[in-house]
Amino acid sequence: MQPPASPASPGSPASRADCLALDAADPLAPLRAEFALPKDRIYLDGNSLGVLPVRTPELVRRTVEQEWGQGLITSWNEAGWVDLPFTLGAQLAPLIGAGGHEVLVCDSVSVNLFKVLTAALRLRPGRRTVLGERTTFPTDLYIAEGVTGLFEGGRTVLLDSLDELDARLTEDVAVVVLSQVDYRTGVLLDLAEITERVHRAGALMVWDLCHSAGALPIELAAAGVDFAVGCTYKYLNCGPCAPSYLYVAERHQGVAEQPLTGWFGHAEPFAFVPEYRPADGIGRFLTSFPPLLALAGVRASLEVWQQVDLAQVRAKSLALTGLFMDRLAELDVVTPREPERRGSQVAIRHPDGFPVVQALIERGVIGDFRAPDLMRFGFTPLYTSYTEAWDAAEAVREVLASGEWRAERFSRRGAVT
Ligand SMILES: *Cc1c(COP(=O)(O)O)cnc(C)c1O
Repeated sequence: MQPPASPASPGSPASRADCLALDAADPLAPLRAEFALPKDRIYLDGNSLGVLPVRTPELVRRTVEQEWGQGLITSWNEAGWVDLPFTLGAQLAPLIGAGGHEVLVCDSVSVNLFKVLTAALRLRPGRRTVLGERTTFPTDLYIAEGVTGLFEGGRTVLLDSLDELDARLTEDVAVVVLSQVDYRTGVLLDLAEITERVHRAGALMVWDLCHSAGALPIELAAAGVDFAVGCTYKYLNCGPCAPSYLYVAERHQGVAEQPLTGWFGHAEPFAFVPEYRPADGIGRFLTSFPPLLALAGVRASLEVWQQVDLAQVRAKSLALTGLFMDRLAELDVVTPREPERRGSQVAIRHPDGFPVVQALIERGVIGDFRAPDLMRFGFTPLYTSYTEAWDAAEAVREVLASGEWRAERFSRRGAVT
């Protein structure tokens, strides 16, 4: 019943034994021990919610029992709480090619996007259009609509394809907002090249890094990017709904004005004066203090990231996704074959993608489904092995060949797919 394996591309492992050998030689393999991996499961959904680092529970417990329980109010200073949005931002900065003083950990992606998009529009006073891609993760588009709605004559224009970008970069475009890696297809955009084109047209560039940070090296400063946002709970493994981050290029920090002017963005929050005066640096992009217990998850996971070489992450990511695509080449794989055009996930189109994914989950292979017809498999090089990629591809082939996904129980949908 099983369809024949398609021929592998050069360099791709040809057998499970080859994968075992690759795992034995993998320089990232020791990092697997840093993660509390689920038993008897192959977890290919780290692009949606990263796995729990083993050091996180202890740090969360210490934050609760010692810093909160014992230190109480003194922990703001003694435990360095008050600096955390900055110190964690500085630890995260190398992962996205930013200076340590250009990144802040706080709020959600949507809220941070609201702040940086508004700031960007204000930096281009004669211009009123925000350009985005129609297929972008919808919250980014909803926020763009919300922001442009606050500006007289403001509008959000959505491209059906990036091929239209140059034609649509008219004199009214203030900002372009794009995701570096598409959350559905895994398509990777050329961040530096697009940023340059946008700048040539006089507009500012905002990148969403949710599906790229932690999966590949990113060079925001070198590319002259203006603003960026991203979440910490996908490839960065900081925990469900952990605070996200924002990046503001140094050159904008003294002049950019964000709209959510809360007390923690004030130059002197503890002066308690009635007038708002923004902090000098990136601190003006704070609003309130981010949830402190959730920051413990960010602290723990960024400790793990300090040991990681992103070039090794990228090389393994491409090898894992390449192997998976090779083994399933007879299917409708929508993720690009060219390494420079893909992130760290593989998307496969299938009209019955939903029940197929459910059948895979029952077999212990955890991927997910995005409407209307995409099955997504995320590869997280810190904890996914070559053998798991091989076994997961075999499971996909078996589920499709056996037709087991047709069982009625696989068609029932929960609130989250
Ligand atoms: C996951 C994700 C978000 C999440 O937004 P929140 O406001 O933090 O819930 C935003 N944008 C993209 C592209 C994402 O992938």
